[in-house]
Amino acid sequence: MERHQYDVIVIGAGGSGLRAAIAAHEAGARVAVVCKSLLGKAHTVMAEGGCAAAMGNLYPDDNWQVHFRDTMRGGKMLNNWRMAQIHAQEAPDRVMELEDWGALFDRTSDGLISQRDFGGHRYARLAHIGDRTGLEIIRTLQQRLVALGIDVYMECTVTDLLKRDGAIAGAFGYWRESGRFIVFDAPSVVLATGGFGKAWKVTSNSWEYTGDGHALALRAGATLINMEFVQFHPTGMVWPPSVKGLLVTESVRGDGGILKNSDGERFMFNHIPEFFRSETADSIEEADRWYEDKKNNRRPPELLPRDEVARAINAEIKAGRGSPHGGVFLDIASRRTPEFIKKRLPSMYHQFKELADVDITAEPMEIGPTCHYAMGGIEVDPETEVSVVPGLYAVGECSGGMHGSNRLGGNSLSDLIVFGKRAGDSAAAYAAGLPSRPEASDIDIEAAKASALAPFEVEGRENPYTIQQDLQQSMNDLVGIIREGSELEQALVEVERLKERAKTMVVEGHRQYNPGWHLAIDLRNMLLVGECVAKAALAREESRGGHTRNDHPGPNPEWGSKNLVLRLNAARDGVDMTEQAITAMPDDLQKFFE
Ligand code: FAD
Repeated sequence: MERHQYDVIVIGAGGSGLRAAIAAHEAGARVAVVCKSLLGKAHTVMAEGGCAAAMGNLYPDDNWQVHFRDTMRGGKMLNNWRMAQIHAQEAPDRVMELEDWGALFDRTSDGLISQRDFGGHRYARLAHIGDRTGLEIIRTLQQRLVALGIDVYMECTVTDLLKRDGAIAGAFGYWRESGRFIVFDAPSVVLATGGFGKAWKVTSNSWEYTGDGHALALRAGATLINMEFVQFHPTGMVWPPSVKGLLVTESVRGDGGILKNSDGERFMFNHIPEFFRSETADSIEEADRWYEDKKNNRRPPELLPRDEVARAINAEIKAGRGSPHGGVFLDIASRRTPEFIKKRLPSMYHQFKELADVDITAEPMEIGPTCHYAMGGIEVDPETEVSVVPGLYAVGECSGGMHGSNRLGGNSLSDLIVFGKRAGDSAAAYAAGLPSRPEASDIDIEAAKASALAPFEVEGRENPYTIQQDLQQSMNDLVGIIREGSELEQALVEVERLKERAKTMVVEGHRQYNPGWHLAIDLRNMLLVGECVAKAALAREESRGGHTRNDHPGPNPEWGSKNLVLRLNAARDGVDMTEQAITAMPDDLQKFFE
């Protein structure tokens, strides 16, 4: 079997994985990056709007304290406050570093990095490159990775983590093309595998996002937190059906776009929650003035945090005021010139023209909520990003805590580069400090191999594609944007049923590029993650951020002081859950909320 030795293995080649690999390499470690698809094709590359960092280029009043406060308020105070603090403090340096490495950000007229408005951010704060920010960030990081000579194993899926005496010893995977197995011996593994949105039917996520990192971590003994909090982005395409769920960037609203119902009403003014009322414009006139004069006017309600906007859209559709294809209207055509729209939102212009035959410079878009981002993830130490398993680190969307119950737009790209660097530094330091390297046992490697091959051995009749579709439908219908206790109970029953059916999944053919086999392996992860989300969502009897319970409307202060922690129960390949009190915020941070 192919076998390689490294100090640090990074699983995932999105922004967080690449940044971690660069940091670990610069700290002197022998590093490899392993990714399921081609290098350069991660979710990060799809990020459109920008990367949040309080650089104060447009508004000198902006600073890390304001960014920290916005992030905590956006997450409804459930964020790991230390992560939110580190993130706000370090994001500007990490953005400047990208610029030093060659990233070509858009500019202000003074030649500084330009910053754009996004929901929940008090000041224009998102460093961007048109609406193709992720592409430029990935290009920059990838170029540096290649220049540094870091090894990359692409189209290679990791299916198991290997341990020795409770600590990480490496990772086991297979080449997607040949189906041949591969073992990486390494004392440090950084999980940077992104989210799990592919478990829902209507989603902005692509095929790779099956919660692999979450499931790998659970199976290795790590814990997950905040899994009930899934972000439904307010604006996904709703038509044509082939692209339903595809993201429509928040920049459309940041750059002046407004939401209207079928009566032509700008309805967001009817949905301003008490928590944000004092900071939000209550008339069209004030909202419109804000684009020109942010100091003396309050923000338009279209730029409330995503959870609020998604719920409002959902309510309008349910009340029968939706658009012909079951969404609402997002209108920038009547607000900005065609030249402005094409310059600021080139990808959106082409996306709608080519996929829906809609010219967004002349007519409104039809949009609706789409499953977008996982706030929940692997529990890590805020300083080092290590999980509870020695040698196992997690960073980016697969880690939990930073965004609390709701992520603000633009705070993911900054999260990737801030904690990517920290994870890489810590993973390298841990590997260098070990007196001896843990070695994976042959028994564990054989077990990983047997587990990967199991779908070929089983006698059965179930098709992995049918099981995936049934899971996606159940998650959409029962664990969606608005939840209900009885439906969540039903979701857990459905997941158990699907797990049983998955035991009799048939995979035909051989191991060479076999998509059915790939899906059968990924499905185990999606089912486990689906259980985590439904279980935590059922337990949290309140509505907060990305978790809305019809039967428990509004936040409950008691729930505002605890996280739900999930760990594997190997005996039944399911999860157990416990409550964890949130550490109190120190006074010097608490004062920002008084
Ligand atoms: P990803 O970039 O998702 O990369 C994950 C990597 O893990 C991939 O390389 C994948 O192949 C690999 N992988 C997964 N499983 C395995 C496995 N088993 N074995 C090997 N490799 C594996 N955020 C913002 O801040 N601003 C924005 O403007 C913005 N726009 C967005 C637009 C879209 C359409 C989407 C989908 C997201 C957007 N986001 C945005 C969110 C943000 O892009 C993601 O949260 C972020 O890029 C995730 O980065 P990551 O490094 O955690 O993982």
